[in-house]
Amino acid sequence: MDSTFPILVVEDNPVTRRLLQKTLKRSGYHVVAVENGRQALEVFRKQFFPIVITDWVMPEMDGLELCRTIREMELPGYVVIILLTAKDSKDDIIRGLDAGADDYLTKPFNHPELVARLRAGIRILNLEKSLKEANEEIRILSITDPLTGCYNRGFLTERLNQEIKRARRYGRALSLCLCDIDHFKRINDTFGHQTGDLVLKEFVKIIEESIRKDVDWVARYGGEEFVVILPETDLQGGICMAERLRASVEASTIEIPAADSIKITASFGVTAFGPETPEAVISPEAMINTADQLMYQAKKEGRNRIKGAPLEAERSLLQPVESLVSRSVG
Ligand code: GH3
Ligand code: MG
Ligand code: MG
Ligand code: MG
Repeated sequence: MDSTFPILVVEDNPVTRRLLQKTLKRSGYHVVAVENGRQALEVFRKQFFPIVITDWVMPEMDGLELCRTIREMELPGYVVIILLTAKDSKDDIIRGLDAGADDYLTKPFNHPELVARLRAGIRILNLEKSLKEANEEIRILSITDPLTGCYNRGFLTERLNQEIKRARRYGRALSLCLCDIDHFKRINDTFGHQTGDLVLKEFVKIIEESIRKDVDWVARYGGEEFVVILPETDLQGGICMAERLRASVEASTIEIPAADSIKITASFGVTAFGPETPEAVISPEAMINTADQLMYQAKKEGRNRIKGAPLEAERSLLQPVESLVSRSVG
């Protein structure tokens, strides 16, 4: 018997209410009992009940109105509603089911029958649970890069937009760092594509170890290019993180089957906006494009380095490189 689903009993008759409460509790269910539909809704607003057993005729709000109201509510899950009433004509049964009840039992109730009908209701709830779990699995797959396990580009597009909006609303800073492995093609050419894949996985692990857990996040932008989003982080903070990341990539050795180990480096473009940045300048595309141009500068200047600049109107990116914040080795 599955007693993980709590039951809300709605019954105005105190004797029946107590009897229901007692017998259900004895069968292992967690039960809360109230006197009418209005009270049931009050309780419902504070705590969700996946199972409701309700009487029909009650003062203040009857069982049918309760059924209809529950069906109109936006709730975290399905509610199995069982009508338990002395009304027993065919017409009543039809009215009850049409109001939203899943099942209909007449009084005086038979305890084994009630519990059997509860089990039938619980089968619906278990089905819903497994559907939700399957949906969640699909959702996770749809936003994950299958090779490295980080977020994919689809997620980046969707979520970056939200991060920008959130940062704007609260007047906060947001940094974006584009990371690109240096001479990655050589790794593929020398050791094969599988080793290349392994390096990509290791690269993501290094990134994940360098960023703030549960705040910053990384997405695969393209083949060997990754974007790190740093909420609540201004340009200086973004550059700081990128420098830490650059240094730990450089310091790592990646074990590969084709040789003992290899070393890699990466180049980074970092951009950020803050409350002072004009609205018109800020967009996901502008952030990625700016970071991409900065990353390209870093490549041009010798790789294994960081270029950072605030998010500005397009033209300022044509300014001489000296005006950009630059961090590099040596
Ligand atoms: P640079 O320092 O200028 O970035 O040089 P690079 O060789 O890293 O850059 P380029 O863009 O020329 O090459 C990227 C390579 O990444 C080419 C492509 O075959 C490889 N690549 C893209 N996706 C994957 C993948 O999923 N697995 C592997 N193994 N290689 C990939
Ligand atoms: Mg009644
Ligand atoms: Mg590269
Ligand atoms: Mg590249």
